[in-house]
Amino acid sequence: MNETETQTDAAPETRDFIRERIRSDLADGTTDQLVTRFPPEPNGYLHIGHAKSICLNFGVASEFKGLCRLRFDDTNPAKEEQEFIDAIEEDVRWMGFEWDGAPRHASDYFDQLYDWAVYLIENGKAYVDDLNAEEIRAYRGTLTEPGKDSPYRGRSVEENLDLFTRMKNGEFPDGAKVLRAKIDMSSGNINMRDPVIYRIVHKSHPRTGDTWCIYPTYDFAHGQSDAIEGVTHSLCTLEFEDHRPLYDWLVENLPVPASPRQYEFARLNLTYTVLSKRRLTQLVQEGHVNGWNDPRMPTISGLRRRGIPAAAIRDFVSRLGVTKSDSTVDPALLDHCVRELLNKTAERRMAVLRPLKVVIENYPDGEGENLDAVNNPEDDAAGKRQVRFGREIYIERDDFMEDAPKKFFRLAPGREVRLRWAYFITCTDVIKDDVGEIIELRCTYDPATKGGDAPDGRKVKGTLHWVAAENAVDAEVRLYDHLFTDPAPGRQEDFVSTLNPESLEVLTGCKLEPSLMDFEVGDAMQFERLGYFAKDPDSTDAAPVFNRTMTLRDTWAKIQANS
Ligand code: ATP
Ligand code: MG
Repeated sequence: MNETETQTDAAPETRDFIRERIRSDLADGTTDQLVTRFPPEPNGYLHIGHAKSICLNFGVASEFKGLCRLRFDDTNPAKEEQEFIDAIEEDVRWMGFEWDGAPRHASDYFDQLYDWAVYLIENGKAYVDDLNAEEIRAYRGTLTEPGKDSPYRGRSVEENLDLFTRMKNGEFPDGAKVLRAKIDMSSGNINMRDPVIYRIVHKSHPRTGDTWCIYPTYDFAHGQSDAIEGVTHSLCTLEFEDHRPLYDWLVENLPVPASPRQYEFARLNLTYTVLSKRRLTQLVQEGHVNGWNDPRMPTISGLRRRGIPAAAIRDFVSRLGVTKSDSTVDPALLDHCVRELLNKTAERRMAVLRPLKVVIENYPDGEGENLDAVNNPEDDAAGKRQVRFGREIYIERDDFMEDAPKKFFRLAPGREVRLRWAYFITCTDVIKDDVGEIIELRCTYDPATKGGDAPDGRKVKGTLHWVAAENAVDAEVRLYDHLFTDPAPGRQEDFVSTLNPESLEVLTGCKLEPSLMDFEVGDAMQFERLGYFAKDPDSTDAAPVFNRTMTLRDTWAKIQANS
């Protein structure tokens, strides 16, 4: 599928509080050129929540002729890996965006950040503290009680410089000392109560190796990296709202080359889904899913593998808008965006997932014919193809009932139905095995109904999809459902207990129209009457595998209609 025609599909005049702010900053000259950044921590794969941040940061840059950088927030060497860096780059590109210049890294600025930490010490605005993590927490106070000064808060500039240098030189073990900004232990904002800005971590870093054994915290690295890169609007999620005073304090108290501003927007949350990287990591590490790109995962790579187009994710995100109030979205809205897009773009094919053999007794033995089939009724340009028809075909087991109620409009003994693009058939006999299981149907066809209409004007109520036995391709088809049964799985620590045991169903021996073998991994298609599907990268020519992206029924449209 062609995913290159992107970056421009947001409505030209999208209005939200961030875009309004950018518009006014550009209009009054506060900002000459907009610069944003997408700052993932490379400790996992990107998920659909990140897609919201990607679409916002890259989206505004393209709408306002600005620049968006990709910056890896790689300040914690304990959890970060090259595999994640590579996957993040691939996923951002697949989403349809290209960052300005080479990818940046917070670690590119470690020298500068160190110098700025020294600058704070020299100006009496930072000190080395010997309290351990627990003591620091206890001294910090609570929302209702002010914090208490650390006994080390009064250290002289000289002593602090000496200790910080020795921290850097590796003289102390992990956790023995930290560097803290000296701000205000009685601030109403706990983030301002002398936040830790450097910690000791004796761990090799994927990019800087063993050069450093002290690393800046997120708060110290982030705003300063923004300033170095000339970021004008630093867009992040609401949980950083309380960090903004610290962000501003650091920008004001350091000789940084620019004054970026931070703006916060609501995170994306989805029902039946966990989006915390810690929890997604647990699902992968404990083997509850088959890797980060398992099609049941809410990761961008999982969605891609399931067959969800990037354009549908962008559409979904743009419908949500950018606000300041947290909400949880029904994934049925994403499904709706996917269906709306694929209905227009996906070619139709026939595939039988649970095959039941049908022998058409009055069709000449040993013969067959090619029939015209429309590729996409929504798109004339998609043209037609030929499908093979013959004496033996497969239909869906569900499309036959021996004792059918009146309202069952599919096949039953003595009843007539239409085979899509082919003929009317009537069931004349049911063949069973020793244990009474139906293994085959006998039918007759009416040669006058070729193409699907009876010249005498008689009607049938049902139209079935089918595949000719002569050249059917055997395939595996994987069906997916919500990964969790709990609509809010993330609220409990024991969220794995709410995993849906039926989230994956694997069908083998499915019968496909052979033209499905011409599709590539990543192409979307509709299996008529069954849903949208995509070829899985596990496929080989001998053993193709297809994922069900989505069924055809749109529950979101129904929810909207009833509300
Ligand atoms: P987690 O809390 O799951 O570990 P994170 O926020 O730490 O995720 P980062 O890699 O730091 O993940 O995120 C990169 C960017 O994506 C940040 O600017 C972050 O605010 C944004 N982001 C992360 N999750 C969401 C979400 N659910 N909705 C919108 N933006 C998000
Ligand atoms: Mg983060």
